[in-house]
Amino acid sequence: MRGTATVVGSGPNGLSAAVVLARAGLEVTVLEARDRVGGACTDAELLGPGVVTDLGSAVHPFAVASPFFRDLPLERHGLRWRHGRYPVGHPLDDGPAAVLPHDLEEAAEGLGRDGRAWHALFAGPVARWEELVPDVLGPLLRVPSSPLALGLFGARAAWPAAAFVRTVFREEPARALFAGMAAHALQPHTQVLTSAFGALFGAAAHATGWPVPEGGSGAITRALHGVLTENGGRVETGHTVRSLADLPPADVTLLDVTPRQLLALGADRLPARYAEGLRRWSYGPGAHKVDYLLDGPVPWRDPRLADAVTVHLGGTAREVATAEADVVAGRHPDRPFVLLAQQDAADPGRAPGGQRVVWAYAHTPQGSADPHVGERVDRQVERFAPGFRDRIVGRVETSPAQLEEWDANLVGGDVGGGALTLRQQLFRPVVGLSPYRVPLPGTYLCSAATPPGGGVHGMCGFHAANVALRDLARSRRVARCPALRAGSSTRLDE
Ligand SMILES: Cc1cc2nc3c(=O)[nH]c(=O)nc-3n(C[C@H](O)[C@H](O)[C@H](O)COP(=O)(O)OP(=O)(O)OC[C@H]3O[C@@H](n4cnc5c(N)ncnc54)[C@H](O)[C@@H]3O)c2cc1C
Repeated sequence: MRGTATVVGSGPNGLSAAVVLARAGLEVTVLEARDRVGGACTDAELLGPGVVTDLGSAVHPFAVASPFFRDLPLERHGLRWRHGRYPVGHPLDDGPAAVLPHDLEEAAEGLGRDGRAWHALFAGPVARWEELVPDVLGPLLRVPSSPLALGLFGARAAWPAAAFVRTVFREEPARALFAGMAAHALQPHTQVLTSAFGALFGAAAHATGWPVPEGGSGAITRALHGVLTENGGRVETGHTVRSLADLPPADVTLLDVTPRQLLALGADRLPARYAEGLRRWSYGPGAHKVDYLLDGPVPWRDPRLADAVTVHLGGTAREVATAEADVVAGRHPDRPFVLLAQQDAADPGRAPGGQRVVWAYAHTPQGSADPHVGERVDRQVERFAPGFRDRIVGRVETSPAQLEEWDANLVGGDVGGGALTLRQQLFRPVVGLSPYRVPLPGTYLCSAATPPGGGVHGMCGFHAANVALRDLARSRRVARCPALRAGSSTRLDE
């Protein structure tokens, strides 16, 4: 198809949208505020020469599973997935850590009295993973392509995580493991559908794993950029778009921004009702990030954790739920839930000379400016790895405000483009049936604030660009046919 497209923002979703449009034949220009592509999926030598630090995302269960990414020649552009022995581990104060191997049978064996329940929970979704993924990585409110797989999954997913772990599991390791995965929802574990996150992340661990890209997260967006360039698209870095009025004319415009930014770009141009809907959009808790360089491995009390790529630090399921409820309510837990990644466990050599990089962030209240969160992260690691602090040779903290300064989509440190409240899971970004269309001619939203939401998978961009292409084709059919034109009162941007 001939035509022109402008994409604002080169995060994984902006780049994915750009790739879809360029592969369809459009002349695509991506305008990116920062001096490099990739949004919150990039890396840099933050802790010294030769030390690769993931600046945003680190571990990628949904990128490796993404039907769109799998359809692209990303490997030809340098992307290699690396898996560790355990996708995730969860230390406990009393007794050994819970560790989750990729293999479901092995996981069930390791979970003792809860092994059967764990197996029963995940066997179905894992067996039907290929059918399930396109549905869970698409808008929730549409006819599923595989109703049976989604229905089976939904039965496990609709619960509040807190009640789910108490009902389904008998012992702390399985409960804590599941609660840690459900904490990716960044919502109180009393909210319905929070168990969906535990079920989804657990199924991903057993189906396709939680890998890291060789050489740093930027390998994903560098590869997407490579595919875009190969298809004639280009990115202009250092180009901040300040108003919709400043955008070059194009057949379609896709915006990899969140609702607050869209309002700043042109609230006056938007229909009042849509603008009002955007104003109601709420942002979720923030991330307070701490990156470490160690002179050796983390001295975990349970040595098996050395082989876990992700480690969830938060203690028991109850403690995790309490910490998450606190941050959503705007309180700082003394022991916050911390996500920690040891990329070297899957991709050795992120730091030279036997040193190790450790990436961690704590969930904090939205927009938090508390200067003590970093110390609390240190304490949470030390709690399960005595002697950790003595190993630190480099350390960089990034507050929620600094995250937002780096990438404007990370409003108040929110890593997911908006809170995963029940309403916002169903309707992203406003109540309506067309999440991607902005009610302006040829304009679409394609960021994580649209379905399926946060995470690196490119599916928001993929779906938005496909809607844009369909609309463009339809508008051209209408323009070519006078009869259709006369009878058509359907606006493309409805
Ligand atoms: C600390 C952290 C940890 C994370 N961990 C993980 C993880 O382990 N796994 C995972 O899957 N996901 C993770 N995520 C989430 C994931 O990175 C995001 O959900 C994902 O990057 C969203 O992609 P996006 O394209 O919607 O937006 P972004 O990646 O945020 O990209 C938006 C881009 O648009 C640009 N932009 C914004 N406004 C303008 C403008 N006006 N003009 C020009 N350019 C503009 C920004 O500069 C940015 O480059 C993490 C995020 C963070 C911050």
